Amino acid sequence: MTARVLVVDDILANVRLLEAKLTSEYFEVHTASNGLDAIEAIGSFNPDIILLDVMMPGIDGIEVCKRIKSNPETQHIPVIMVTALDQPEDRVQGLEAGADDFITKPVNDAALFCRLKSLVRLKMLIDELRGRDTSALLEGQDNPVNLAEVEKNANILIVDNRGIVAERIEESLSKLHNLVTLREPSEAVNLNLETEFDLVIVSLDLLDHDGLRLCSQLRSFEKTRQLPLLIVVDPEDGARLMRALDMGVNDYLHRPVDRMELRARVNTQIKRKRYTDRLRTNVARSMEMAVTDPLTGLYNRRHMDNQLEIQLANASVRGSPLSILTLDVDFFKPINDTHGHDVGDRVLKELARRLKEQIRTIDLCFRIGGEEFLILLPGTELQVGFTVAERLRRIIAATPFDVQASSGPLAITVSIGVAGYESAADTPEIFLKRADDALYKAKRSGRNRVVSEAA
Ligand code: GH3
Ligand code: MG
Ligand code: MG
Repeated sequence: MTARVLVVDDILANVRLLEAKLTSEYFEVHTASNGLDAIEAIGSFNPDIILLDVMMPGIDGIEVCKRIKSNPETQHIPVIMVTALDQPEDRVQGLEAGADDFITKPVNDAALFCRLKSLVRLKMLIDELRGRDTSALLEGQDNPVNLAEVEKNANILIVDNRGIVAERIEESLSKLHNLVTLREPSEAVNLNLETEFDLVIVSLDLLDHDGLRLCSQLRSFEKTRQLPLLIVVDPEDGARLMRALDMGVNDYLHRPVDRMELRARVNTQIKRKRYTDRLRTNVARSMEMAVTDPLTGLYNRRHMDNQLEIQLANASVRGSPLSILTLDVDFFKPINDTHGHDVGDRVLKELARRLKEQIRTIDLCFRIGGEEFLILLPGTELQVGFTVAERLRRIIAATPFDVQASSGPLAITVSIGVAGYESAADTPEIFLKRADDALYKAKRSGRNRVVSEAA
């Protein structure tokens, strides 16, 4: 991972030390030696993360942090306060000023890189959301970078069979989040963790259980691989901590657990989980929108173009049969003219519902025009395609459509043309044309009927 890091400290030796550590890990570093320079550097350097010393002459770190977090342009940039070990009140003030996390001087490498990576990952997610969600932002809906709501009501699983860690966490978080404590660690892998929890906190010092093994299992199972994992570890236990971080544990806390630290780290992990979830649903939703017809919920014409090509290639490679039905509502224009466009729309919806209900899950149904539909039947011979079409036609004609027309339910009929895949010479255009020609014959010969291309 690489990222742009802004290091702010008034003591040159501190700046140089951090710069050297970060540069050797291939981070891109920019430095500032006072608050004003730092604020200026944010504009010019555009950092992914800021390491901010608290004690500086002039504008101190707390004030710089407040300014960063109150400016909509910069508030999404994570800030790690660098505090002196003997000044615990600095941490409180820093977190209150909006800092995302803190590390204490002298800076420990494991702590530095762990926090840095955790927060940079979060920043990258937020950047991606900001980029993707611009339309939602413009409409003023549902601001994804509104952090306040994200920090509440998470489902957190605590794995601790000694109780000490769990008690401490419960004390600090039970008002904000929903906590479940698991006293039998071996049960963790059986729970449906990914859907039920936003974060798992594991105490590495379990009685009769290897906390590291549990972490490694959670990391290796596909279902829990993405689940944020925070461990609580003894400060003397550096070796196990390093192994835990190596296997992908997201962050750690030392015992005894510091409340402020706990809250800051839990927040970061929960935000990351929620933004990732959100990004995933956004991607899924926009993919779905790109292929769906909004009125009927069927696939749209664009998707048909792609699918027809794929299914034809499949038929030609495997030599498997393939049928298509093109379907057009009979006398649809008069329905609109007599009963209004809304009734027409409801007819289309009800029709789509009946079609979908009647086909197999591997069949695909598209709305390709106003009142025109296409159904793709993979693995289906022309004869069988004809039978399916005939069943659809009958089911539509048999029961009038209850679409709130003033004259009562409307009798609706459809005409259907059927074509079957013949040879590799069948391009989507040629194939579709055969089905369309059959549909045309069905219309000309009186409507409410199915015509197969062979007829
Ligand atoms: P035919 O039996 O020959 O198919 O006659 P028809 O009246 O169904 O055919 P035509 O193609 O002349 O009319 C289709 C009508 O469908 C015209 C158009 O106003 C209407 N239409 C197209 N899209 C929509 C839509 O989304 N909603 C509604 N309510 N009507 C639509
Ligand atoms: Mg029509
Ligand atoms: Mg038409």
